[in-house]
Amino acid sequence: MAIAIEEHSARQVTRGFMRANVFRGPGHYGLEEKPIPRAGSGEAVIRVRLTTICGTDVHIVRGEYPVQPGLTIGHEAVGVVHELGLGVTGYHIGQRVLVGAITPCGQCDPCLSGHTSQCGGPLGGWKLGNTIDGVQAEYVVVPYAQANLAVVPGSLSVEEVLLLADIASTGFAAAESGKVRLGDIVAVFAQGPIGLCATLGAKLMGASQILVVDTDPERLKVAREFGASALLLTEGDVVQEIRDFTEGRGVDVAIEALGTQATFENALRVLRPGGTLSSVGVYSGHLRIPIDAFGAGLGDYTVVSTLCPGGKARMRRLMRLVESHRIDLTPLLTHSFALDQIDRAYELFSARRDGVLKVAIRVA
Ligand SMILES: [Zn+2]
Ligand SMILES: [Zn+2]
Repeated sequence: MAIAIEEHSARQVTRGFMRANVFRGPGHYGLEEKPIPRAGSGEAVIRVRLTTICGTDVHIVRGEYPVQPGLTIGHEAVGVVHELGLGVTGYHIGQRVLVGAITPCGQCDPCLSGHTSQCGGPLGGWKLGNTIDGVQAEYVVVPYAQANLAVVPGSLSVEEVLLLADIASTGFAAAESGKVRLGDIVAVFAQGPIGLCATLGAKLMGASQILVVDTDPERLKVAREFGASALLLTEGDVVQEIRDFTEGRGVDVAIEALGTQATFENALRVLRPGGTLSSVGVYSGHLRIPIDAFGAGLGDYTVVSTLCPGGKARMRRLMRLVESHRIDLTPLLTHSFALDQIDRAYELFSARRDGVLKVAIRVA
């Protein structure tokens, strides 16, 4: 059984070197030795227990999303408190904590107006593995620790909470931002890990029907377990199929969880007048809005985009859903690797081999 307090005592903080998965330049990454970081004022150092790989990390190692060479990759982790910096109170060494992918300051204008993921400016809440060293390492510095360390309840395992850091939070946020109402008909485009969590989010929000679209029949099977009521392979005319399903009316909310022109456009085309397109995909280049699908600008449509919400309050809320058995994300953790095998984990995850959804990387 999991316990909340683990081995470490406060007497001494380990110094020395650690292993970290470092981005070296487009196409190059791997484990390197780095000094175990120290906690500055307001920071905490976490000893990572379990981490995972995000699609964004794959973009980073391929050089498709720019980060500084030398940066440690990764933004989803659960671990134990190793060191607390000045001013971080109410925690103790050895306590298990979940750290969200988004680590906002909790003090700036965007944070105080509820947009923690936009902390300090556009996308500014995403710091780990983006602008500061990330979590695919034995130790990591958590900035603004007071706002970002969520204590893991003793009843929950690290596996049960890991995916709350990013994909579940993002997927659920797609349904929340889309303001899914009781009885709504929802379409979700793409059933990767985030799309699957958007399906689960729509179910939690009270959708009556959830129509999901993907190219992969295996992922559609998982979608069924997560609450999908109709499964559509992208091979067909999915817009027509969804329109037929709703007897020509269209869906109340369409969630885009891939980030392509085609899926964005399809999401718009299946909406009822006045419907909401909730987008959590990451796009590149230009995104065009077809005027016919947009009611020439007069269709009362809402288009909303969301980055993963940040901070410990969000993590606590999501952990309560796991604790009360409203959600179980462990079916998404299809494969497990040790930190030493992280290159194999990247290879499997980026090639989408063997039915992989998410990989668990065991660090300690
Ligand atoms: Zn991510
Ligand atoms: Zn902030």
